[in-house]
Amino acid sequence: MHIASCPCCCGTARVFAVIIENVKMWQIGCIICGLTTDYDINKGYLLTKWNARQQLENQKKWFYLVLLILLIVSIMAFFCGYFIAFKSYIAIP
Ligand SMILES: [Zn+2]
Repeated sequence: MHIASCPCCCGTARVFAVIIENVKMWQIGCIICGLTTDYDINKGYLLTKWNARQQLENQKKWFYLVLLILLIVSIMAFFCGYFIAFKSYIAIP
């Protein structure tokens, strides 16, 4: 299964096997910034969880980008309306 890159720094992620009290557990972590998941015996579950976090970060980026564009457009629309109204105000003496 594909491992998505780190949601924080876009670094490479690796799957680590850890033995805790004679139980083999798994953990996924970023080798650049050290962000890790919890330990779990189900490797597939951890991979799904890790990849879902990356998708969530991507969705957040798109959400904030769209929000920023909407803000800029509404500020521009406000000033356009203001200047159009101001112009028509002086045109009628
Ligand atoms: Zn990272």
